[in-house]
Amino acid sequence: MGSLPALPPSRERAGREPREGTTNVGRDRLYRTEAIVLKRSDMGEADRLLTVYTPGRGKLRLLAKGVRKIASRKAGHVELFLHAEFQVAQGHTWDIVTQAETLHAFRALREDLWRTGYASYCAELLDRFAEEEEENRPLFDLALATLKRLDQESDLALVVRYFELHLLALAGYQPELFHCPVCRNLLQPVVNYWAPAEGGALCPRDGESRAGAEPLSLNALKVLRFLQTREWETCRRLSLSKGLHAELESTLQRTIVYVLERNLKSVAFLHTLRRQLAALGNGYQSAARAA
Ligand SMILES: [Zn+2]
Repeated sequence: MGSLPALPPSRERAGREPREGTTNVGRDRLYRTEAIVLKRSDMGEADRLLTVYTPGRGKLRLLAKGVRKIASRKAGHVELFLHAEFQVAQGHTWDIVTQAETLHAFRALREDLWRTGYASYCAELLDRFAEEEEENRPLFDLALATLKRLDQESDLALVVRYFELHLLALAGYQPELFHCPVCRNLLQPVVNYWAPAEGGALCPRDGESRAGAEPLSLNALKVLRFLQTREWETCRRLSLSKGLHAELESTLQRTIVYVLERNLKSVAFLHTLRRQLAALGNGYQSAARAA
């Protein structure tokens, strides 16, 4: 693709059509779905409103009733970042979780501050990119695999860069890494430019004078190509310097921010964490302990 189009307004759907006859819940108003819990917020005295991502129905908002009561049997199955199987009853305003069973708990994602930060960032990205009630099985598979990796891998930044690149591709914004989108010539092994508005990496001739384009090192381009074209099992063996990690992070974030046209709360959150760790005398990668 040539350039990144602006986000269509339909991505932010205000609501949904009210359904008929959903006051009395019958068997035909029930469905089962796998789900990943992306967000949750308190509702009323004891309920939680969940934002979940599902393979067949895209992003959904579900009401989990009574889960903040101590005796709730569902409570443990609606935690953040869980992969669960839900039975859901269609409701008037929100569909309601009637049964829940944990498939993967991903405990480290809630117990380790760094893993929590990266998982929050990925959940927020998915929430912003995902369509409501639109099937996207590959995106669900990517999200689930990413949570597994964030739960287990040591190089969390690499996990997130892989997620970002593939999320962009699955959402229709795959960055161009092989041909300059302006002149269509094959990119040469030199310092090129990164231009989110043009859709990826530009040759030096087209990148130099372009507003918003910044130099992209040859190593960064190579790693981006590697992440875009190889399986994770191959990519996970990469060992990148701190400087290269930082360049890859800012490169992809510039594209993500361009696509979403807004700043991400989680990005600010991660920057805050990094500053705090630096103040404690720890390096950026110190949280990515050896596995
Ligand atoms: Zn060019």
